[in-house]
Amino acid sequence: MQIKRLRISGFKSFVDPADLVIEPGLTGVVGPNGCGKSNLLEALRWTMGENSARSMRGAGMEDVIFAGTASRPPRDFAEVAILAERDGEETEIVRRIERGAGSAYRIDGRDVRARDVALLFADAATGAHSPALVSQNRIGVVIAAKPAERRAMLEEAAGIAGLHVRRRDAEVRLRATETNLARIDELIADQD
Ligand code: ATP
Repeated sequence: MQIKRLRISGFKSFVDPADLVIEPGLTGVVGPNGCGKSNLLEALRWTMGENSARSMRGAGMEDVIFAGTASRPPRDFAEVAILAERDGEETEIVRRIERGAGSAYRIDGRDVRARDVALLFADAATGAHSPALVSQNRIGVVIAAKPAERRAMLEEAAGIAGLHVRRRDAEVRLRATETNLARIDELIADQD
């Protein structure tokens, strides 16, 4: 899955609608302290279904809504849209939160449950907790990790961790089949 575009409105410091085009390849976000780099990554994770206000650095989920400044009044809602492409097909995922009304999700304009959004990203081996999203405070963890741990992180980020699980399942089934075959051979030998 490739994330091609991110539209943000009323989310944290992004009070005015912002439309970011994400080109293929590596994307870096640079800027002075406090300019909103982490907010950008949080907008992505929030739309993918993040439900922990603490991991959004807030006390409650409504804290993601622009809280106002000395010169601008607070907003009543926040909305983030992700345009993603998978196997040549584009999908738009939108999460919106309104004060006093909670969150609502849409996929391609249809109202859906949070679970549907989580499943969509899980199938694409990504999501709010994907190791492919490395926030500033996680960089140290990646650097300090042992080689085997780092390999596991990279494999999960690349979406191949699921293949290892399927391989283990297949090996267990293979061993069970070999045991059954050996047992059948014994039974046949007993009858001779
Ligand atoms: P650093 O490099 O220091 O980590 P950063 O570029 O990652 O900074 P963020 O942490 O993304 O910056 O943004 C912090 C800014 O977002 C602060 O100025 C904070 O006031 C603002 N902010 C966070 N939540 C809200 C909100 N709900 N309403 C308005 N502004 C907010």
